[in-house]
Amino acid sequence: MLTTTIAGSLPKPSWLAPPQELWAPWRLEGDDLTEGQHDAVRIVVRDQEQAGIDIVSDGEQTRRHFVTTFIEGLGGVDFEHRATVKIRQRYDASVPRVVAPVVRTAPVYVKDARFLRTQTARPIKFTLPGPMTMVDTLADEYYRDREQLAMAFAEILNAEALELEAAGVDVIQFDEPAFNVYMDDVQAWGVAALERAAAGIKAKTAVHICYGYGIKANIDWKGSLGEEWRQYEDVFPVLAASTIDQVSLEVANSHVPVEFLGLLEGKDLLVGAIDVATDVIETPEQVAAVIRTALQFAPPERIFPCTNCGMVPLSREVSRAKLQALGAGTEIVRRELKG
Ligand SMILES: [Zn+2]
Repeated sequence: MLTTTIAGSLPKPSWLAPPQELWAPWRLEGDDLTEGQHDAVRIVVRDQEQAGIDIVSDGEQTRRHFVTTFIEGLGGVDFEHRATVKIRQRYDASVPRVVAPVVRTAPVYVKDARFLRTQTARPIKFTLPGPMTMVDTLADEYYRDREQLAMAFAEILNAEALELEAAGVDVIQFDEPAFNVYMDDVQAWGVAALERAAAGIKAKTAVHICYGYGIKANIDWKGSLGEEWRQYEDVFPVLAASTIDQVSLEVANSHVPVEFLGLLEGKDLLVGAIDVATDVIETPEQVAAVIRTALQFAPPERIFPCTNCGMVPLSREVSRAKLQALGAGTEIVRRELKG
């Protein structure tokens, strides 16, 4: 009970990529890069195990960005001649253009998953971008229809997910921060695309829906959302009726009304008990308090203490301390439940 896990990314060692930077460039190349990425995975696995994290991830040590790196592995997308679009209605970014049918010509992360599988005896999680979030990070000059492009990505993701499962992955998580922005599209086609991506997967499937990293554009956006962040209220009932097993959501320091946890009847709740938008380290007692709150809405078998989002923009020192707090805080509540 109270199985611990993390949302996904962890900071990279400074010899692999400049620290505390999103989309940081690699500091190695060729075979050195592969070796460096493997070494970084070994380190983050050990950090998670030492902190008492039960379902471990590779901390996304092999990717520069949680969406773009996956898309770089596909055909139909032009990375050379970029266009500027507004991402999640929040900030301008120079993005690749979809210029032909999108295709997966080779596995993208399957080798990485096989390596992670050799590095730990614990259950492993692998993250993939969700279809709607992928659509939102591109200029589509071919399909010119968000739903159609999302369904094309969903089929690609499904092929990748099936191979990740065959490589021994226990949990496949789709990251869909865009679900908190386009709530009407979530109902219309977002969850359908997600279900297509997860079709036939026997491993646990999860969706991560967050309010983003602690970067300025996100902090400004959160400031505009008012006293109560009610986006989950629209999204959770649709997910509760879906085939997806687990939902990863923000709780720690967020303005999400906690009663929204009650909208996910029957799903596993990956409860964000670590705020990734601050360097302040949670105390184990603060983590325990978040878990106790979640226990009002679901039994301990369905509560998975987790981070609010990825920790890649934080320092390694802060990230490690937060992992430790997550493990220690969970242990407090486990003892209470046993006692
Ligand atoms: Zn996130």
